[in-house]
Amino acid sequence: MSEILNKAYNPEWFRKEGHKLVDLLADYLTECRSNPDQKTINWREPDDLLADWKNFFEDENFEIEDFFKKVIDDGIHIHNPKFIGHQVTPSLPIAGLSDFLATQINNAMAIYEMGPAPTVMEKIVIDWISKKAGYRNGDGVLTSGGSLGNLTALLAARQAKTSYNIWEDGVKENDKPVFMVSEQSHYSNARAVKIMGLGETGILKLPVNSKMQIDVTKIEEHFLKAREEGKNIIGFIANACSTSTGTYDDLESIADFCEKYDIWLHVDAAHGGPAIFSDKYKYLVKGIERADSIVIDFHKMMMASALTTAVLFKESSHSYETFAQKASYILERNNDWFNIAGRTLECTKKGMSIKLFATIKLYGEKLFDEYVTGRFDAAREFAQYIDSQSDFENALEPESNILCFRYVQPDVEDLNKLNAEIRKKVVEDGRFYIVQTIIDDKTYLRLSIMNPFTTLKEFEELLELIRKTAK
Ligand SMILES: *Cc1c(COP(=O)(O)O)cnc(C)c1O
Repeated sequence: MSEILNKAYNPEWFRKEGHKLVDLLADYLTECRSNPDQKTINWREPDDLLADWKNFFEDENFEIEDFFKKVIDDGIHIHNPKFIGHQVTPSLPIAGLSDFLATQINNAMAIYEMGPAPTVMEKIVIDWISKKAGYRNGDGVLTSGGSLGNLTALLAARQAKTSYNIWEDGVKENDKPVFMVSEQSHYSNARAVKIMGLGETGILKLPVNSKMQIDVTKIEEHFLKAREEGKNIIGFIANACSTSTGTYDDLESIADFCEKYDIWLHVDAAHGGPAIFSDKYKYLVKGIERADSIVIDFHKMMMASALTTAVLFKESSHSYETFAQKASYILERNNDWFNIAGRTLECTKKGMSIKLFATIKLYGEKLFDEYVTGRFDAAREFAQYIDSQSDFENALEPESNILCFRYVQPDVEDLNKLNAEIRKKVVEDGRFYIVQTIIDDKTYLRLSIMNPFTTLKEFEELLELIRKTAK
């Protein structure tokens, strides 16, 4: 027996180091919550960090504990309440433990027998969230991320709304399939249309109103004009909510339009879909149950670790027609619910249902209601605070937990430059982590308030830091 293989698989090594790692992570989580001096990021220029890690890679001495610590130290601290940047959630400890389990048993679930338990858990979780979204006969799959989720849904839309078998035969020469999308749509949607070979002409961008919502008064006009030009509008992609400003489109009006003209409605609810769990804010997604497909990221507003995404279909059959191809060695019958590879781009897939099942069982739906409601409330609270400060202004009234605002000074001409520099300096300082966005040619600072422990106190501190930085 190979000595090195024996060593690499040694269960006692695993037991010992595993316990230590859990202790290290528990200490880390405590530190993120309670050490006010912990930075969210120790900013290093990429080349500088690369050089450091190259040395580490070449170093003869290697202690696994040092390595684990270094990974944490050189990372970004999502669980620190001053991390208010990208749309990544401070993942739940139960998600971490479940991922650990999923990875170690490695039940990679392309077909049922490769991961029997994760497969049935996936069905239960999908049925649960699909009902919550308002679907009666819904179905769907879990997949790795919203970008892949959007592509999966739009492939189904393309297959369902063309009069020929576009999956088998490709796009017919005189056909011009087109998706209508918001100017504010996440780039993965345009990318999906291009991956499908429809090119730039396959995308019809719709203008937004001052709230950054698709202007529903203009949809029909754009549609009729495109149709006159010989375009075949097959799908419509609505935001719930948009990435940049966190704005929800008017799903009811859009659903009316799509029904009238027999157009597939896809709701990209990667970020804001979990509003379905909030008694207070579910009005924002009114009409979502009328969509033909919905994408919801669990790793954004449902506290799961990345990546975990639900692709939901109103009609169960659409989940089976997306990839209507035969791969006879693996998929004898395409319509078995339990051979999930037939319905996702992924073949081998991580058992991501385990953490979702465990989270729901441990804490119930109430967890998601409190999380979503609390974070959406926080954005409104912070925006009100901004309104009371003469040297700051909001871009928009926030609808979700995404907040865009900027620092203003009457004597500064180039506020865009100033705010971009502020953001850069804040990140380099490392105490807070924030991002930026451009709305109507204006640069704003942008927050995604993902951490349940971020309060007005941290926000006030951030504004103080910005004021100091600006000077
Ligand atoms: C984040 C996001 C995506 C992309 O999802 P990933 O999981 O990052 O691939 C798509 N659409 C919207 C609206 C998003 O906010």
